[in-house]
Amino acid sequence: MSDIIHLLSDAVANQIAAGEVIQRPASVIKELVENAIDAGATRVIVQTKDAGRTLIQVTDNGKGMSPIDARMSFERHATSKIREATDLFAIRTMGFRGEALASIASVADVELKTKRADDEIGTYIHIAGSEILSQESISCPDGTTFMVKNLFYNVPARRKFLKTNATELRNIISEIQRVALASPEIAFSLYHNGTVIYDLPAANFRKRIVNIFGNNMNQSLVPIQTETTLVKISGFIGQPKFAKRTFGEQYFFVNGRYMKHPFFHKGVIQAYDRILPGDMVPAYFICFELDPGAIDINIHPTKTEIKFENETAIWQMLHASIREALGKFNVIPSIDFDQDGSIEIPIAPRSCEGIVRPEIQYDPTFNPFEERSVSIPSRGFSENKEKTDFENWQKLYGEPDFQFAGNFEIQQNEEAVQTSFIEKNDFKPVERSKNFIILKNRYILTPVKSGLMIIDQRRAHQRIMYEQFMDTIVNHEGVTQQLLFPQTLEMNSADSALLRSILEDLNYIGFDIREFGPDTFIVNGVPGILGNSDAKGVIEMFLEEFKTCAPDLREKERERFALSLAMASSIDHGYSLSDEEASHLIDALFACETPNYSPLGKPVVEIIQMEEIEKKMK
Ligand code: ADP
Ligand code: MG
Repeated sequence: MSDIIHLLSDAVANQIAAGEVIQRPASVIKELVENAIDAGATRVIVQTKDAGRTLIQVTDNGKGMSPIDARMSFERHATSKIREATDLFAIRTMGFRGEALASIASVADVELKTKRADDEIGTYIHIAGSEILSQESISCPDGTTFMVKNLFYNVPARRKFLKTNATELRNIISEIQRVALASPEIAFSLYHNGTVIYDLPAANFRKRIVNIFGNNMNQSLVPIQTETTLVKISGFIGQPKFAKRTFGEQYFFVNGRYMKHPFFHKGVIQAYDRILPGDMVPAYFICFELDPGAIDINIHPTKTEIKFENETAIWQMLHASIREALGKFNVIPSIDFDQDGSIEIPIAPRSCEGIVRPEIQYDPTFNPFEERSVSIPSRGFSENKEKTDFENWQKLYGEPDFQFAGNFEIQQNEEAVQTSFIEKNDFKPVERSKNFIILKNRYILTPVKSGLMIIDQRRAHQRIMYEQFMDTIVNHEGVTQQLLFPQTLEMNSADSALLRSILEDLNYIGFDIREFGPDTFIVNGVPGILGNSDAKGVIEMFLEEFKTCAPDLREKERERFALSLAMASSIDHGYSLSDEEASHLIDALFACETPNYSPLGKPVVEIIQMEEIEKKMK
């Protein structure tokens, strides 16, 4: 038998590597822009067509390449940035693997024009599917232009994997936001199909943030700054009152590189403890600078997750410096640290032991959210077409047992700033006709023949809203309720691109939203189903839900819409239902086609059987 192992051709090897590095148009942009930054560019222009499917062009005024380097740059493991494996521990450049260009050239049609300032003439190279089609001398400006056409033209499977243009464009915008924030001293422009999305002049960090996220952000930003032998932390955090329900304004950078860091994210969120409601996220733009040897950027092929050697100590410093900044700006009343100014924390304790959290004194009665606490009027369920559906109810659970007497309403908001202890007079007897109690603003308990029925209020409302929105979409009966006071929505470019791309569909369901400037929208009306809920909050949350919606629904647009709207508009745990609302909720739930499960498949209703209760009481 002959031997069966052979080496893959370069083209195939590159395509396999491309699978790791190049997933979508945004990944091409990331690699090309990082190369431009590494080449010392002070100005980078990105142009795209059809969300990067047909064209991505990146032009820089960096140092350019010699004819030989230009040819070499497309070879795998060709890099000018490291020579020895030990260099890996001292990386200051964005790229270093020497894989990006080889990967891109294996899955697209690529043209390169490049010239060094000292050279008379530049170089042109045309390469497609890893094959050099031509190389010649041309005259061109100093710097480099890469033109990437028809991405994945030779890998149909990957092409199919791409999302809608709106989604791909959003990814591109996010990528540009990340690099533009990481390098404010570099001017960036982004064009899509000939229109300008960003034209960001070189600026300081704060100005760059404001140029990207809008003037509103300026009032919100609070600087943070701390420096120890271990790390320098600097940047800005958002004031709590500007926090949003949607993500998109949370950024960490390490040594000039964007990173994700769930553990540090928790540190930030915990620093806002008690001054932010649980579902709000503050904006933050935080830069860490430290010895490159103390981080490992190599653990992830697309390199956004980064490991730190002294994670716990840095966490503590981050947390403390945010508390300090919030205190200084009077965001937290009466804050008192052991030390003033910078906080020196001893290097490298490996565990949490021995690290003492700064003592923070706060006024337990202070509640900065008093005025903005989310008010959720009787959404949806009070206007349900069929008022009650006892048949349904009976079919499922037997007749409700109305003998239940002596009801109490025990309401205790767990998240409240003040812990209120239940005292005798908190037990408010209610009218005799009521046959349920509400437990901890979370569960509605009601007796049924077979035992005790427990309804999860939030999931029940999700189910009701989901079916009502599906109804509206399927039957095309979006009724608009005009708002008394139109609301203005300002958002970042990524969210506004998304909103713009689905605006027609939203208005079809009954929203009345108009564009008003590049990143601003006016909400004139909402679907009648939403009643008087906070339109702005619902839309923001809807966008967040829509972005992160269950992947299996990605292709089913109607379900995805209905689900995201339901999640955004339904009441939460902790929402205190009035008796009337609770009884409408029960009625509307059992008028649903599938009352038992939430649209995410979680149980809405459970019954504790009599036998179980009797067993417990033995
Ligand atoms: P890496 O960035 O990891 O080194 P790449 O495949 O992205 O690998 O690039 C290979 C090499 O091509 C780089 O090391 C650099 O020398 C050169 N190069 C790429 N893009 C540019 C550019 N815009 N300007 C100058 N040189 C570049
Ligand atoms: Mg690179």
